[in-house]
Amino acid sequence: MNPNQPVALITGAARGIGRSIALNLAEAGYAIVANDLSFPPSGGNESGLRREVEDRNSRFHPVELDISDLDRHDRLIRESLDAFGRIDFLVNNAGIAPARRLDILETTPESYDRLMEVNARGPFFLSQRVGRLMIRQKASLGSDYRPGIVFITSISAAVSSPSRAEYCVSKAALSHAAALFAHRLAEHGIGVYEIRPGIIRTAMTEPVRKKYDRLIEEGLVPQNRWGCPEDIGKAVASLARGDFAFATGSVFEISGGMQMRRLE
Ligand code: NAD
Repeated sequence: MNPNQPVALITGAARGIGRSIALNLAEAGYAIVANDLSFPPSGGNESGLRREVEDRNSRFHPVELDISDLDRHDRLIRESLDAFGRIDFLVNNAGIAPARRLDILETTPESYDRLMEVNARGPFFLSQRVGRLMIRQKASLGSDYRPGIVFITSISAAVSSPSRAEYCVSKAALSHAAALFAHRLAEHGIGVYEIRPGIIRTAMTEPVRKKYDRLIEEGLVPQNRWGCPEDIGKAVASLARGDFAFATGSVFEISGGMQMRRLE
């Protein structure tokens, strides 16, 4: 393993899209700091992910914490630096759906606040801290250091679903945060990108699997299938490799063509 490997910090990496991002970035040569709410001691087990990362000849460090707890962001950054000495790439992936889908006329302030805290406020302030660190590291590490930040938002940043309005609002806020950080950090050579996944088969979409099976069968997705975590993991790895080095502030929708307005 290369001790000078670039380092990626991925939030919500225990399963689903975040896990695939971690594995694709390990494959692309990054050491992996994987954050998740569900790692020990809170629950779960990170040994499977560790093995898969190490099988890709990469280094792995797990950090258990709730990304909405801003007081613990310092610890996340400190642990990343203690483990691997630098952070090159941040992927703001951790996110939650409403515990219960309720119509916009019924939904609660508690659900609204929780989604905003996890999906928008947490990644906003983590990116602020990591952005400041990246500016300092750029000065010390020189031209080999190619920092970047990715925000995993959703088609829900722009598509209306009144049965989970707070999710849509949180992702619209996160989308604008991505644009703002892209603008502010461009002069420091830090690329910032938004990835908007469409309908991806993960634990998050399991409760509505049958509904989406039917909608996809009826033609909702032009490419006529569910997305899989690998569709997103590969796209993030492509950004990390620098394939889109002149595209900061871009929005990449990965939804099998759902962004197309259609008339047939
Ligand atoms: P998932 O529920 O399968 O996995 C999310 C992971 O994030 C879990 O391991 C969970 O423990 C972790 N997590 C949740 N809250 C956290 C917190 N506060 N702090 C730290 N970790 C936390 O979800 P997924 O489908 O893999 O979604 C990943 C991201 O992609 C989310 O931001 C989601 O909104 C977004 N997204 C998903 C879809 C989809 O169809 N699955 C579509 C568009 C966008």
